[in-house]
Amino acid sequence: MTVVGFWHGYPEANSATSGYLLEHDEYKLLLDCGSGVLSNVQSFCSLDDLNGIVLSHYHGDHKADITPFQYSRILNAQKSGYKTPIIYGHNDDKAEFSKLPFRDVVKAIPYNDYDRLLIGPFVFFFQRTNHPVPCYAMKVELAGKILVYTADSSFSEELASFAKGCDLLISECSAYAGETVSEFGHMNSEDAGRLAALAQAKSLILTHLPHYGEHQQLKVEASEQFSGEIYLAKQGFSIEL
Ligand SMILES: [Zn+2]
Ligand SMILES: [Zn+2]
Repeated sequence: MTVVGFWHGYPEANSATSGYLLEHDEYKLLLDCGSGVLSNVQSFCSLDDLNGIVLSHYHGDHKADITPFQYSRILNAQKSGYKTPIIYGHNDDKAEFSKLPFRDVVKAIPYNDYDRLLIGPFVFFFQRTNHPVPCYAMKVELAGKILVYTADSSFSEELASFAKGCDLLISECSAYAGETVSEFGHMNSEDAGRLAALAQAKSLILTHLPHYGEHQQLKVEASEQFSGEIYLAKQGFSIEL
C-alpha cells in the first residue's frame, strides 16, 4: 500500500487529497481518487496499468480526479493491450454512480455492505460510516492479511468491530485532540487512536490530515490511546503487509 494523497479538503502544493494505491503482483487498485491523485499516482505506476478504482463516497476530496482518469483512458484506448478499468462505487446516490462509467473505455460496478466483492486478488467488504453523505469503510483481505480504510467517518463502535484484528488501519484524522469534528462526520486524533485500540489493530496510519498545526502532534495524541505502531501519512509512504 502506497499513500498517493492524504490531505483533508484540498491538496496543498504538489500534493493530493485521498488516494491509496494497493498492489499485489501486477494488479494495481486505487482506493479513492481525490484532487491531485491522478498526477501523483504516476510517480508509482502508469495510468494505463491501473486495473480499477474503489470510491468510498462522492465528496470531491475523494473523487475529484475521476473525470481526468476517464479522459486519460479515452485518449489512450487505442494503445495495444488496453485494459478496461472498473470503478467501484456505492449506488445509494444513483446520479453520482451513473457518472462513473465512461463510453466503452471505463466500466462501473456497484458495491454494497451485505456481500463480499472480489476485486482482482483482493476480497472486499464494506460498511456504511457516519458521514453527512453515504460513505463506506472498506476491509480488504488477501492471504490472511487484513487492511481496513475508514474513509470519512466519526468514531463508532461498529466501525471498530468492522476493523477488528486488522493488520493495518488507515484512519482518517481530520483534527487534533479536543477538537469536535464528530458532528461533521469526522474523527480527531484521539478518536483515531481509540478506534485502533478498540479494533486491536496491529498498526495505524493517520491520514486525511488537517491544514494547520504540527502533524507530529496528531501522532503523539493518538499514541495516548493506542500502543501499536502509528505512522503519519505522507506522499509516497509505502508499507508491505
Ligand atoms: Zn467526505
Ligand atoms: Zn474527505
